[in-house]
Amino acid sequence: NQGLGSWPARRARMTPDRVALSYRGDHRTYADLRERVNRLASGLGVRRGDRVAYLGANQPAMVETFFAAGLLGAVFVPLNTRLAAPELRFILDDAEASVLVLGEERAGDGLPGRHVEAAEYEDLIASGSPEPVDEPVSQDDVCLIMYTSGTTGRPKGAMLTHANLTWNTVNLLVDVPLAHDEVVLISAPMFHIAALAQTLIPSVLKGGRAILEPSFDVERTFDLIEAERVTVMFGVPSMFGFLTRSPRWATADLSSLRHLLCGGAPVPEPLIRTYQDRGLTFLQGYGMTEVAPGALFLGAEHSVAKAGTAGVPCFFSDVRLVAPDGSPAAQGEPGELYVEGPNVMPGYWRSPEESAKVLSEDGWFRSGDIGVADEDGYIRISDRINDVIISGGENIYPAEVESALYEHTAVAECAVIGVPDEKWGEVGKALVVLRYGVTVEPEDLLRHLDGRLARYKIPKYLEFVAELPKNAAGKLLKAPLRKLYGG
Ligand code: AMP
Ligand code: MG
Repeated sequence: NQGLGSWPARRARMTPDRVALSYRGDHRTYADLRERVNRLASGLGVRRGDRVAYLGANQPAMVETFFAAGLLGAVFVPLNTRLAAPELRFILDDAEASVLVLGEERAGDGLPGRHVEAAEYEDLIASGSPEPVDEPVSQDDVCLIMYTSGTTGRPKGAMLTHANLTWNTVNLLVDVPLAHDEVVLISAPMFHIAALAQTLIPSVLKGGRAILEPSFDVERTFDLIEAERVTVMFGVPSMFGFLTRSPRWATADLSSLRHLLCGGAPVPEPLIRTYQDRGLTFLQGYGMTEVAPGALFLGAEHSVAKAGTAGVPCFFSDVRLVAPDGSPAAQGEPGELYVEGPNVMPGYWRSPEESAKVLSEDGWFRSGDIGVADEDGYIRISDRINDVIISGGENIYPAEVESALYEHTAVAECAVIGVPDEKWGEVGKALVVLRYGVTVEPEDLLRHLDGRLARYKIPKYLEFVAELPKNAAGKLLKAPLRKLYGG
């Protein structure tokens, strides 16, 4: 078995007694992890190629399910716990998951398929065999499917192979010299690629100790850094921003921290300076789910001189900037950022058409982001082609919110844009043209979205307008909208 599923056993061969996972005061060694993954794999009742979904917070069960699926040659499908029930149902149906493993405090009511509730989980582990299952798994087999929404408003499953994740780990280790004794705090959700691929997976490779936190909490973060002497942490910029606004920021003992990984959204320069003043340097990454996820990296050495850029391509990845006419963008000129390398996904699950839109035949992936290279090749992410809004590290696709708004009979026309926000980077703002003669309040429309969409997708602002700007063909123009209402 050449896949990620074999990693706990490979690690346990070398360092069986080191702690692999800590969760709420419980510690599991690599030997424990190996045994539990083996037992789960044999008890789970799934076969090679089956999809194994997981819905829950960062907990040992999530890690064990991920590795057990890998051992079986099955495909792990982590679900965003913030999604509303209809959104979860869509993904479970689309993935045709054969089992849904539920984390603690999570019920599967109304969700399709066979469930493993938290209460049954330990029985399942006890019933399985401690001997490893013997499945041939190749590096090119799909290891996980992670759903990301699309411009069409319908989520697509990005397939990542064992090779994709392995090469991303190599790329990361080239830039971040992780030692054998790292204490890795994982409080960003592992249902997103960054926490899984930039912290958990490298920690297991190196034999570090991962502290799993079910959610991000400022006080807990300071407590854990001090008490556990945390050395590595990943966060989106808003998480790092919350820490600086706490009264503990000035006094906390942060001396154990070696590597602070920040990415997933643009990192504001004032934030970089605030950490710098505290003697802490961010390692910044730019990437996306589809490339597992690292594409650009800005290491500590250049983080001040090149602040505002997202760095240079990762060691085994290539990046090019393409002008609108398809030619290479000149230095200093904007171009769409394309990525190529062993970390690029083979495509979206059962969506050859969507895959063809973003993957060229020679293997280049179109990111939809606009970058500008400086004279040293450092790339600044300057814009996005699609209208995605990034709020606290979660992506919001306006089309998805708009189509939920259109389900309300009072809505004649609507558009959702991102507006700057101190805390979250950006938040959504809906502009709505009401049907003639209808009277509703903005709150009525927001209430209508409740339960249909994840909370974070519900616009923070909703304004009624008389009309929306369009071009001659009747196509909605978002750029003037952002000018008019984006301030
Ligand atoms: P996702 O598909 O959820 O993985 O989100 C990927 C998107 O997040 C990218 O296409 C970018 O638009 C954005 N992103 C990620 N990292 C950065 C960064 N360091 N700077 C700017 N934008 C970023
Ligand atoms: Mg994306």
